[in-house]
Amino acid sequence: MRGNIAVVGLGYVGLVTGLCLADLGFKVIFADLDASKVELIRRGVAPIYEPGVEEKLTKHRNSGNMEATTSTVEAVARSSVTFITVGTPSVNGEIDLAGVKGAAEDIGAGIAEKDDYHVVAVKSTVIPGTTEELIIPTIEGASGKVEGKDFGVCVNPEFLREGSAIRDFMNPDRIVIGYRDERACSVVEEVFSGIKSVLVKTDLRTAEMIKYANNAFLAMKVSFINEMANICELFDIDVKQVAYAIGLDFRINPEFLRAGCGFGGSCFPKDLRALISVARKKRYNPVLLEATLRVNDKQPLRMVELAESVLGELRGRRVAVLGLAFKPETDDMREAPSIKIVQALLERGAKVVVHDPKAMERARGIFGEKVEYAKSSLDALKEADCCMIVTEWREYAELPLEEARRLMRIPLVVDGRRIIDPNKAADAGFIYRGIGWGMKHNEFRSA
Ligand code: NAD
Repeated sequence: MRGNIAVVGLGYVGLVTGLCLADLGFKVIFADLDASKVELIRRGVAPIYEPGVEEKLTKHRNSGNMEATTSTVEAVARSSVTFITVGTPSVNGEIDLAGVKGAAEDIGAGIAEKDDYHVVAVKSTVIPGTTEELIIPTIEGASGKVEGKDFGVCVNPEFLREGSAIRDFMNPDRIVIGYRDERACSVVEEVFSGIKSVLVKTDLRTAEMIKYANNAFLAMKVSFINEMANICELFDIDVKQVAYAIGLDFRINPEFLRAGCGFGGSCFPKDLRALISVARKKRYNPVLLEATLRVNDKQPLRMVELAESVLGELRGRRVAVLGLAFKPETDDMREAPSIKIVQALLERGAKVVVHDPKAMERARGIFGEKVEYAKSSLDALKEADCCMIVTEWREYAELPLEEARRLMRIPLVVDGRRIIDPNKAADAGFIYRGIGWGMKHNEFRSA
């Protein structure tokens, strides 16, 4: 394929998409409304934390394969293919399509300035029908041109995970291309020809649905094992052993079977809510999806209950919350379980001190002065009555337990991700509570 590629929307998905395409040899023109983000990218500074992104920004700033602008119109006018990667946030349970619509208008204006055929690939997660009913008509209206003749549109959902986004983008389990214009599909296929994967070609709305079904299934798996964890606790059974054994069944597989304090992030909760909302509008009652969300809404509070099971009332207790990002290797705190846990602790009158290796700046924007911010995980534990592990950062799995215990007032660890070995914790003198661990294992053993 000749010509540049425009990437509109410089979040986790847009940045990673553009940088990987630049790696594949394309000249990429990034566009975003946010001038400060564009400026950072021009300087080779990553506006988010995602492993490998900063290095690739530096590389392509020098390779000449990358530009950034606040003008989508200009980026599109100078490209052959445009990826839409703008955010589709959740508003009252539905997705807000304002960003997608605005991007489509600007893309149309860019296409209006061109004489040659242009391809638009929609990577943003949008509910089935959005491309046909909103994106294509908007581009046609703004460009005065005709889809299928002057330009083509594909749906190319993205499945990358934050924290391993570059690796996921370059090694996808499959590449889905939804299309109704053969020519557009072959162009997108050519863009990805440098990536080895299974290609799934389908129509536009099926491609949109695949993304929702994918996320709904994964979220359901997490809520399933979390519910099993809660039941295991009632029977003094360690859910980890149960998860291990059922994960060996090839029909189940071990991925996404780690019980914990719930899922968060910018996708699962938002996408589930959106799918529930559109299903209801079509008069279908999606009970399984609703239950998946309900289990997840309650799961962070298990952490507080486990702390209360040892300490009683939490008023005046000093609780260290280790891990704020919704998962390790990212600074993303959107809908992170940590937010609910901190709020519940504050409501109960606890003093909260927080730590995260990457998300402290974002946390300040969320919690303000209501919590203390520790410089390190050990710093957070000083004089604490409880240590809650909320995100499975490696450094928390490797906490020097003896030292940690000496720093704390009451050596209680509530392990929301099951990353501390309960026996090692007990040997170091900790009271250990973990999601799905089972109370009888938790008797206090003094060091
Ligand atoms: P994000 O919120 O991190 O970034 C979105 C960017 O789009 C922002 O920089 C914003 O300024 C920009 N933007 C919004 N409207 C715009 C417009 N009209 N023109 C130009 N720029 C505009 O988003 P994200 O997390 O990268 O997600 C992007 C999309 O990809 C969403 O639909 C999301 O559901 C989907 N997705 C996300 C992930 C993930 O792990 N984050 C994975 C797969 C799919």
